[in-house]
Amino acid sequence: MKINAQRLLENLDRYAQIGKMGETGVERIALSKEDQQARDLLKSQMIEAGLDVHVDRMGNMIGIRKGKQDDKPVAFGSHLDTVYAGGRFDGVLGVLAGLELIQTLNDNQIETDKPLALINFTNEEGVRFAPDMMGSHVYAGMADLAEILKSPAYDNANESVGSCLEAIGYAGEMDPGAIQFDAYYELHIEQGPVLELEQIDIGVVEQVQGIYWTRYTVKGEANHAGTTPVYYRKDAGFTAAKLQQYIGEYCRKKEGSVLTTIGSIKFSPDAINIVPDSAMFTLDVRSTNETLLKKAQLEIDEFITETVEGDGLSFEREEMVRFSPVRFPLVMTDSVQTATKSLRLTYKRMPSGAGHDAQMMAHHCPSTMIFIPSVRGISHNIAEYSHDRDVENGANVLLQAVIGRSGIS
Ligand SMILES: [Zn+2]
Repeated sequence: MKINAQRLLENLDRYAQIGKMGETGVERIALSKEDQQARDLLKSQMIEAGLDVHVDRMGNMIGIRKGKQDDKPVAFGSHLDTVYAGGRFDGVLGVLAGLELIQTLNDNQIETDKPLALINFTNEEGVRFAPDMMGSHVYAGMADLAEILKSPAYDNANESVGSCLEAIGYAGEMDPGAIQFDAYYELHIEQGPVLELEQIDIGVVEQVQGIYWTRYTVKGEANHAGTTPVYYRKDAGFTAAKLQQYIGEYCRKKEGSVLTTIGSIKFSPDAINIVPDSAMFTLDVRSTNETLLKKAQLEIDEFITETVEGDGLSFEREEMVRFSPVRFPLVMTDSVQTATKSLRLTYKRMPSGAGHDAQMMAHHCPSTMIFIPSVRGISHNIAEYSHDRDVENGANVLLQAVIGRSGIS
């Protein structure tokens, strides 16, 4: 049994029209009008495929297909939201391959032993509302729903997750986590260059990196760029530059075992002729090894404290995200490997560099992920692309892994 590749590719193209940006891009920010439109389409397709659709209070959409046994469903899916100026595969591939899997079983009139569940998680990307992986975070009981619903939009303090869920009609009734799953599989694009470079069909994802996000604000004193002597300056920009140098070099010394990135830096008042009185920057630290992750954060914090105090300045520090690394159970990764082998595809066991819903769901039930190659490793970009053949392969591996777990008799 194989999936219908043409139907899947046409459906991917259909969703790529919702929030279409340029020739190939998509911008479908969580809880926006475009998100609502994509959700409405998915809901109608779920119903058409015979699924019993549930929406939880976090806006997560779950379509259940009954099995022969009254058992916990084998779940699969991903997310329909994108980043600003995103691509047409990140997230939506996992959801639509899951839908295709159900349609394929329908075409072949196959009832699985265990029930199945297709999931679209709310706000995986965290573009307008923190934290990212929000829906799966709450579903897995890792965050407090009431707190999360109050989370304000970055660009509009009058809008919250709760108010936006109401506005798009996806503030559901069910408590997140109410349906206990047997397992969770997520098909996703790699978003990195490894599979393409090594010409491998499928990535069997063994672990996901832990992520620490912290925001720092170095505080000095604004003053005239021409009249303020050097010994008199409290130049937050200069001190921040030293920190940036240290953090940039940190991961280069660790040869990839820890990644450290300053992705955003803002001076205030941000003018050519004023010594900046504050420099706000973000720090992203990642590793698959929790000890190294914690050590990196500690060492960087020590350096920041010493440097800022040494310069006679002060700083504030705000912890935004602390996600531990996750190792997926062998029984799950082996099931993907078996499925891949049965299809005579090549595979590589590998970690995921990006965060994903499966990382959160791993706290709810045995989980894992299936990667397909990303052309030139480009993602979170309108140029994001994966070949039709790889999309088809990925969906077939998902199908085989899921029916292997759910059983067909
Ligand atoms: Zn994604």
